[in-house]
Amino acid sequence: MGDTFRAIVANKTDAGYEAKIEEIGLDQLSEGDVVVDVAYSTLNYKDGLAVTGKGKICESFPMVCGIDFSGTVASSETDAFKPGDRVVVNGYGLSQDKSGGYAQKARVKSDILVRLPDGLDLKQAMAIGTAGYTAMLCVLALEKHGVAPGSGDVLVTGAAGGVGSVAVAVLAKLGYSVTASTGREETHGYLKDLGAANIIDRTELSEQGKPFQKPRWAGVVDTVGSHTLANALAQTAYGGCVAACGLAGGPDLPTTVLPFILRGVNLAGVDSVYAPMPARQEAWSRLAVDLPLDKLDAMSEMAPLQKVLELAPEILKGQVRGRVIVDVN
Ligand code: NDP
Repeated sequence: MGDTFRAIVANKTDAGYEAKIEEIGLDQLSEGDVVVDVAYSTLNYKDGLAVTGKGKICESFPMVCGIDFSGTVASSETDAFKPGDRVVVNGYGLSQDKSGGYAQKARVKSDILVRLPDGLDLKQAMAIGTAGYTAMLCVLALEKHGVAPGSGDVLVTGAAGGVGSVAVAVLAKLGYSVTASTGREETHGYLKDLGAANIIDRTELSEQGKPFQKPRWAGVVDTVGSHTLANALAQTAYGGCVAACGLAGGPDLPTTVLPFILRGVNLAGVDSVYAPMPARQEAWSRLAVDLPLDKLDAMSEMAPLQKVLELAPEILKGQVRGRVIVDVN
């Protein structure tokens, strides 16, 4: 690689919004004390919003897209990292107010870098990606609220998506009995292979339901929001926990206080973008141990940088299964 390298750059001008591949230099990246040779990034729902311009993700332009990456430190002005160190970044404003991972090089402040735990390679790190790391934050939230493998069934909504797939695989490996909710019948075999014990159709949850229903779940990982989250809360058993991280079905939450005040249900909000460093490190070290890595291949497909432009509108329509790893080189 010479002085310039390839990146997907979003621009907003009078002519409109466009993200395309450009040759850029280090001076076009955000400031930071560490330069990373990026190996892989991933495609997330939020990337779909940023690349298509359908959501206001990028806060300034031009902006290198890509909310996460894995790579190897190329140069470092801090003692905390040295060339050759394997690192990963999720969120922290990448593709929002800092240049992101859809580029062959990234420059970041060292305080947002997570050292990749032993046992995970650069490709596996991005097969997991922000979706997988968010799924693990959800699992940690359930654990912190006392939801244990013997507590009862756990529900994962949007199960065939990126976050959902990893949540199903991790929870199943930990010994939970997982019910996967999906709208895509063709993913049933895939979800069973990931470890789902039961599968329900997402229409069971996506219509407006009673605010207080028969208890079914000890815990829930919800990536969908809206009526799905409201029904999940209404069906959560006494003292259970719902970890809410997504809005694939809508950002509203049409519910009542009944599940909280009559069953002591906990609603745990999960944010991956500005999650504090100890939570990130815990999530990544747990992923290295608790995610069955042999399932990652089935969960993920590899796409070259160029293909992101094609896949971005598809992920917004819910047409992408599992995880897409982006090979930026
Ligand atoms: P994906 O697009 O990969 O998965 C979303 C899944 O949700 C789809 O596969 C589909 O699952 C389901 N779904 C889509 N549309 C609807 C709908 N209208 N009603 C019900 N279900 C629907 O996205 P990700 O897994 O990457 O992300 C999931 C959500 O989590 C997104 O909203 C994303 O923004 C959010 N997120 C939040 C993070 C945070 O920090 N809080 C971090 C990462 C993601 P199926 O086909 O199985 O029905």
